[in-house]
Amino acid sequence: MTSIVHIAVPSPLRQLFDYLSEKDVSFWQTGMRVKVNFAGRDCIGIVMSASERETDKDSLKKLKAIDAIIDETALIPEEIIQTVLWVSRYYHHPLGEAFQTALPKLIRNGAEAVLSLEPWWFKTEFVTEKKLGSKQQACLAMLEDYPEGLSQTALRNTLGNVSASMKALENQGLVIQKQQAKLPLGRNELTFPMQLSEEQQQVVDAVWQERAAFTPFLLQGITGSGKTEVYIELTERMLRDGKQVLILIPEIGLTGQFVERFQKRLDASIVVLNSAVSDGDRKQGWLLARAGLADLIIGTRSAVFTPLPSPGLVIIDEEHDSSYKQQDGLRYHARHVALVRAQKMGIPVLMGSATPSLDSLYQVQQNRFQLLQLSERAGGARLPAVHLVDSQAAHPDHGLSEQLLKRMQSHLSAGNQVILFINRRGYAPVLMCHDCGWQAKCRDCDARMVVHRHRQILFCHHCGLIQRLPDSCPDCENMQLKSYGAGTEKIEQHLQDLFPETPVIRVDRDTTQRVNAFNDIVTEVRQGQARILVGTQMLAKGHDFHDVTLVGVLDTDQGLYSADFRATENLAQMITQVTGRAGRGEKAGEVLIQTEQTSHPFWRSLIGDGYAKAAQRLLSERIEMGMPPVSNWAVIRAEARDRSLAMDFLQQVSQLLHQTEQQEVIILGPVPTIMEKKGGRYRAQLLLTSASRKPLHQLLDWHTEAISRHKLARKCRWSIDIDPMDLI
Ligand code: ADP
Ligand code: ZN
Ligand code: ZN
Repeated sequence: MTSIVHIAVPSPLRQLFDYLSEKDVSFWQTGMRVKVNFAGRDCIGIVMSASERETDKDSLKKLKAIDAIIDETALIPEEIIQTVLWVSRYYHHPLGEAFQTALPKLIRNGAEAVLSLEPWWFKTEFVTEKKLGSKQQACLAMLEDYPEGLSQTALRNTLGNVSASMKALENQGLVIQKQQAKLPLGRNELTFPMQLSEEQQQVVDAVWQERAAFTPFLLQGITGSGKTEVYIELTERMLRDGKQVLILIPEIGLTGQFVERFQKRLDASIVVLNSAVSDGDRKQGWLLARAGLADLIIGTRSAVFTPLPSPGLVIIDEEHDSSYKQQDGLRYHARHVALVRAQKMGIPVLMGSATPSLDSLYQVQQNRFQLLQLSERAGGARLPAVHLVDSQAAHPDHGLSEQLLKRMQSHLSAGNQVILFINRRGYAPVLMCHDCGWQAKCRDCDARMVVHRHRQILFCHHCGLIQRLPDSCPDCENMQLKSYGAGTEKIEQHLQDLFPETPVIRVDRDTTQRVNAFNDIVTEVRQGQARILVGTQMLAKGHDFHDVTLVGVLDTDQGLYSADFRATENLAQMITQVTGRAGRGEKAGEVLIQTEQTSHPFWRSLIGDGYAKAAQRLLSERIEMGMPPVSNWAVIRAEARDRSLAMDFLQQVSQLLHQTEQQEVIILGPVPTIMEKKGGRYRAQLLLTSASRKPLHQLLDWHTEAISRHKLARKCRWSIDIDPMDLI
């Protein structure tokens, strides 16, 4: 035993663990993986450093030996190690667990880190006099266009089964075969680039000019203004320069459409990383990126941790989207991590959105982000007209107003498509007995059960509890149970009754669970023909449906009165994104918003002045009230089955924190959360706020160790959330 290796293992304890090794100190490199026994089970650890073994100290006798060395050289690049170290410090999360989030499953589970290979074909210089079969000729002709070779898969995708033909060509010396890295996506027929508008060109030039330095850009471009075209153009330039590009997109069914546009324009090796991609392909994608063999990586949140040996640019599409913040485990924000990485790598970051977050607009105000704008719709499409409709006049059951139904009728008979948004899935949010007042409530949450008629169940959207839909009141056996309010299912059903000739498509989490379900719906809708789409917010994001001319938004009022400090920001973003869904093509669009508060100043500001001005106003309000992004917040949350335990624990945490003499950080609470009971656990939170970031982090640095070792900590689930998205 000649060295002691310091290893990050997946554990809630905030420290490295030491193991003994027979290898010399010089063998060990940061970023190798090893198999070790930790707390009685086998796990994979990441080597952080190693030191000379000193004499036979007693303390060393207790150390275990490393069980197996998985990598002979460092697998995880230094820059990723540094990023994860930063993430672990900033989010006050144990390092070993931070690696769990940052690495693809197969890599963190210790699978062999070698690229899968496949046969690739190359044309030789040799020419033959012999007459070749037509399939053989086709293969040769195709290879002619690809001096850098083509994979067997690529040949097969275009020409069908080619193995016999390729064998024959190989025997004649016309082609040769090599084993090369398997690329996850085939190459597409390329289409010609569009002529960029002057505005688009200016944006491209501004970013391109700063390509050699860390420069964060916020691209504020109204929906349909051609942001994606700008991304494509910049990506193309970066690839020509031999650089890699990382594009982050929100966590939704958008990937297919988005990736396809890049595939059609770039002769590049593109890797896609999201939850629909198999573990094997994710590992392959990660290894391709690490080897510099992936030119363009398009992925959701966790793709921000992809290795980039020759980085050129990071693009964050829909930068305001809340799915960039992970809401459990390591609660990181991918935009923040991307900025930190780009700074280290010395490259620009382009954050695009039609509705930038107040966080990013604040950074612009502080001159930390550079603002770029696209103010016209590409191809001359016009923005739709927006009207408010008083929802008090709406139908008491399904909640649709006469006015909205009339407009639907007229848009549909003109052969156009209509989208209705309602942010509630299921049939109805309330089931009640008229005789005794019984209501369907969740056993484990402070919440009502939602009626899902299609599946004949009551469903709790907070904890997932499912019960059979009762025929009679469980308390008084009355048969007349009545549902109130409307969700996507009820509205779908009513519309199908009202417009029997028009197909109604429902898009919510219940109808899109199957892989590709979302893409299939998108394809169906894009085929044109009159159709009605009823969906939750999932439909609002980024889709380009050319024949949608009318958009209706139901049930907007909860956004105006929510306890969540970001609720109005989110409502403004949602309405603006939704508005952007209408009239994307040549036809003019129209938007109807149903609200009980038609004269609320929020609407006047948003509809009258547009998102940019409304957002500035919301930001001024936040600044005035000293809320994020002006101040820095951290929440310590706890939950336990025992009613008072979470509160007791946080009380103790608060006392610990108060032991430090300081003025900068204000400690508020603990208080029970608004919905105290969820999934059978009682929840509470402690809020820490501070005008500047440093004292807040310092205070946590000083105390997290003691908090995690507190005796009550073991009895509840607890977490630290830095820069929380909400306090609900
Ligand atoms: P965004 O990403 O801002 O929503 P897109 O890049 O998707 O906008 O562009 C919206 C539509 O306009 C797309 O159909 C796109 O093909 C088209 N488009 C974008 N740029 C141009 C251009 N320079 N000339 C013509 N059409 C364009
Ligand atoms: Zn009853
Ligand atoms: Zn529940």
